Amino acid sequence: METDSVIVLRNLTRDYGTARALDNINLEVGRGEIFGYLGANGAGKTTTIRILTGLLRPTFGDAFVCGRNIALEPMEVKARIGYVPESGAIFEKLSPNEYLTIIGQLYKLPASPLRDRIDYWLRFFRVSERADQRMEVFSKGTRQKICWIAALLHEPEILILDEPLNGLDVETIAAVKELMKSFAASGRTIFYSSHLIDVVEKVCTRIAILQNGRLIGGGTIDEVRMIAGGASLEEGLLRMWQEQR
Ligand code: ATP
Repeated sequence: METDSVIVLRNLTRDYGTARALDNINLEVGRGEIFGYLGANGAGKTTTIRILTGLLRPTFGDAFVCGRNIALEPMEVKARIGYVPESGAIFEKLSPNEYLTIIGQLYKLPASPLRDRIDYWLRFFRVSERADQRMEVFSKGTRQKICWIAALLHEPEILILDEPLNGLDVETIAAVKELMKSFAASGRTIFYSSHLIDVVEKVCTRIAILQNGRLIGGGTIDEVRMIAGGASLEEGLLRMWQEQR
C-alpha cells in the first residue's frame, strides 16, 4: 500500500460474538513516533494490539505494518515487531538464558551476536545474576523485564507495548523511558498502550483516545492539553471523556 506510515489501521472492526469491541478504527503512525493509545478499561486497546501483533484477525477492515497486511503476511510483520504484553507469558520452567536463546533462535539470530545481545539486555535490566534460575520463582516485575528482553533481541523496527511498565520498579521505569526515547530517535517506531498518563505525557509524540471501541479524539500532547486550557494531559483527557458522555 502507498503510505509513509509504519502502522496503518483502516476501518478496523472486531466483534466478539455479538459484541463489537472495535468499531471502524482509522489511524496512522509515522516512522520515529512514540504513539500513545489510551482508553478506559474495556475500550479495546488490547484487542487492537492483538490484531497488530497477528494474534487476532479483524472482523472487518485491515491493519498494515510497514505496508504489509498483517492478516495476509503475518510472518513478515512478526519479524519486524517486538511485542511487550501486559503480563508476560513466559515458559516458567526455563531460565532466562534458556528462554532468550530459544527466542533468538526463532528469529534465526546467529549464536555469537545472540549471546552478546542477551548479556547486554540482562545487564541493562539488572537481571544478569538471575540468568540461570528457573523463571517460576521470579516476581512479576522480573518476569516483565524478561518479556522486554525477548521483544528487543531481534532489534525490531517497531515496538508494540501493552502496559509494558506493569510491575517494574522506579529505576527500571526511568531506564525504559530513556530506552523508548532513543529507540524512536533512531527512526524506529513505538505503539504504546497505557493507563500511566504521566509516562505517556513525558514520552509520546502523539496520542489517540479510544472509548467503547471508537476513536474519540487525539493529537499531539500539547493539542490534548489545550482542550483543558493547557493545564495537563490528564485534565485534557478528562474533559474529552466528559464531553463524550
Ligand atoms: P483494559 O484497559 O481493561 O485492559 P482494553 O482497552 O485493553 O481494556 P480489551 O481487552 O481490548 O480492552 O476489551 C475490549 C472489549 O472486548 C471489552 O468489552 C472486553 O470485555 C471484550 N473482550 C475482550 N476479549 C474478549 C474475548 N476473548 N471474548 C469476549 N469479549 C472480549
